[in-house]
Amino acid sequence: MQLFTIFGNPVSHSKSPLMHNFAFNGLEYDGIYTRYQLEDGSQLRQKFFDLDIQGANITVPHKEEAFKACDILDEFAQKVGAVNTIVKKEGKLYGYNTDAPGFLKAIEEFKDAKNVLFLGAGGTAQSTSVVLRDTGYNVTLLNRSKARLERFKEDGFETYTFETFDTDLKFDLIVNMTSAGLEDETLPCPKEILESVVPSSLACIDVIYGKETAFLKFARAYKRPTKDGSDMLLYQGVIAFEYFTNHQFSFNKIKPHMIKAFK
Ligand code: NDP
Repeated sequence: MQLFTIFGNPVSHSKSPLMHNFAFNGLEYDGIYTRYQLEDGSQLRQKFFDLDIQGANITVPHKEEAFKACDILDEFAQKVGAVNTIVKKEGKLYGYNTDAPGFLKAIEEFKDAKNVLFLGAGGTAQSTSVVLRDTGYNVTLLNRSKARLERFKEDGFETYTFETFDTDLKFDLIVNMTSAGLEDETLPCPKEILESVVPSSLACIDVIYGKETAFLKFARAYKRPTKDGSDMLLYQGVIAFEYFTNHQFSFNKIKPHMIKAFK
């Protein structure tokens, strides 16, 4: 039996074990998926080999350490500098990033969307902004602190802080990429900014899942379509499972099993 896990700190809340074990059982694949609370990210590679793990997901705060732990990086993981999926093949660690393609798939339903405003400029915004731009979206970033925006600016993205934001700007999708709302009821940016962009948007999306955040409540009050981060989570998991099982199963075969974790 092959062993899979999720490394993170904390990991107790993670849905990944449930998602992957539903898929292993449903597809009769001889695998089991556990969780591992890892405090020191620099230990990741050693743990992988010591525990004889076949594949792993990596969550906050170790995605950059996971990037460093790999022997071979997929082209996209290399580009964004963050890895959330590792697979062991012939003693080498291969690293991938499935968060961003997962997010891309989750917004496919908004067919007319072109201009996207990201609230937040952390790790998730970093990988998803690149994928969105490569797919043809225009991505603008708004962040609380200036420091995190530097890298995006250098990469050619339009960036604003709360102080410099132009409230005449309009966007099709407004996406909360911050952790504001995860464990509290705070909005990801000042209310006045949301009042300038939310009413004319096609939809408002949060990457936080399993709850209606203050941001989504705000959007609903303006009768905007809303979506939480569940599909992103599901899709990044399905794509990771494709890597774990060496593409033996298609996306559409895996999805109906994994989705049971959300019911
Ligand atoms: P990071 O720690 O890398 O970045 C956090 C970002 O949030 C920064 O831009 C930070 O701004 C901003 N922020 C934090 N608190 C506040 C606040 N109170 N008000 C305004 N801005 C705030 O986080 P990640 O990118 O790793 O994760 C972001 C979110 O994405 C998390 O909620 C995570 O749970 C979720 N996520 C969901 C996934 C899914 O599958 N659905 C997958 C991956 C992540 P500043 O620079 O000013 O500090």
